[in-house]
Amino acid sequence: MGIVVQKYGGSSLADADAIKRVARRIVDIKKAGHDVVVAVSAMGDTTDDLLDLANGVSPLPPAREMDMLLTAGERISMALVAMAISDLGYTARSFTGSQAGVITDSVHGKAKIIDVTPGRITQAIGEGHIVIVAGFQGVSADTKEITTLGRGGTDTTAVALAAALEADVCEIYTDVDGVFTADPRIVPSARKLDRVSYEEMLELAACGAKILHLRSVEYGRRYGVPIHVRSSFSQLEGTWVVNDPKPSAPSQGDTMEQPIIAGVAHDRSEAKITVVGVPDKVGEAARIFEALADAQINLDMIVQNVSAAATSLTDISFTLPRTDGQTAMTALARIQAEVGYDKLLYDDKIGKVSLIGAGMRSHPGITSKFFGALASAGVNIGMISTSEIRISVIVDENAVDDAVRATHTAFELDADEVEAVVYGGTGR
Ligand code: ADP
Ligand code: ASP
Ligand code: MG
Repeated sequence: MGIVVQKYGGSSLADADAIKRVARRIVDIKKAGHDVVVAVSAMGDTTDDLLDLANGVSPLPPAREMDMLLTAGERISMALVAMAISDLGYTARSFTGSQAGVITDSVHGKAKIIDVTPGRITQAIGEGHIVIVAGFQGVSADTKEITTLGRGGTDTTAVALAAALEADVCEIYTDVDGVFTADPRIVPSARKLDRVSYEEMLELAACGAKILHLRSVEYGRRYGVPIHVRSSFSQLEGTWVVNDPKPSAPSQGDTMEQPIIAGVAHDRSEAKITVVGVPDKVGEAARIFEALADAQINLDMIVQNVSAAATSLTDISFTLPRTDGQTAMTALARIQAEVGYDKLLYDDKIGKVSLIGAGMRSHPGITSKFFGALASAGVNIGMISTSEIRISVIVDENAVDDAVRATHTAFELDADEVEAVVYGGTGR
């Protein structure tokens, strides 16, 4: 039988008992006759704890050393899982990302996988071993340095391994039963999706639904890897991320349509910067965004106000990951004299709420219903951006939960009976 790639997140590996439970699940697949390759995350909140520790030692730790530190979390898991498997009478070989052939670019903290050369993995499989790979990490082809893939990156390790090994399936084991219409921690009445398209899942992930790492979905779509998101705490069927979310063979006269809305996502990881008093001249915006690009910062929403006629000055606001806030402010301060803007404002008390659904393309009135729901809940909208299948708004950080629930209800996504169980994790 074929190769099964599995990924276990930190919440599934919180302590020794959890690790033994995961080992039993892995061995069951091996017993069923499959070859098994497993990507593991760091135990529980280890990565956050290591980050806190680093920040306690230095306010701005060097990116290279940060990656050396954080990759230790996944190394601990991989060895412990391999030990637990060996205790069950099976042999496992653990490998770091580098040993497993996960080759990345050289950007510390958010490296991209550029190749996977799984020679050692296929050799270990050939020798009958179960393979455990430390997730979230790789090695740069250029610098030979150890890199990390960004928070949540073990999902991407797993999907990349599944693609390279031409696995039958990539199973993502986590602490909820699949992908829901909203984060079950905020909306207990959220519904599990049996299937979701790569296209919608990409938007959900990009808008903060951390159930899957964005790059894992991009990778899965590019290489056609079937991704099955499910709980390591139950035996229930989870959510399949696939090309076409509709049933493959609709019966005659089947009028079943794709649902209009796939779900509501939220994100509390962004900040907003406003560049106040930018001279309204050709090239000024380009200069500002060039400085941010040079600092390797990915922007999300961008809004430029109409310039005041009297002054010919305009304001430019944009959102970006909070973790890049300091770097962006420094990069912009450096070009103040050159651009001639007035001042910079920084706001990290914001949140983003997004409504996502492929059916939006053909259904008018979605925006007005969304904004109406926010208004009824007393939520003020700060910024707006849209794509073909998504509408996002920036709101006050404290209004995020209300906004998500009101939107979820307005689009009739609530389940009749509560099915959203959160089995573990701290949601950190
Ligand atoms: P893991 O440790 O397994 O990687 P994560 O914490 O990264 O787990 O991701 C799982 C969490 O994602 C869930 O516990 C849930 O709170 C959150 N989540 C956010 N949006 C969704 C969604 N739409 N469906 C399911 N879970 C979601
Ligand atoms: N341990 C890393 C994190 O917490 C990677 C992962 O869990 O996927 O972000
Ligand atoms: Mg995760």
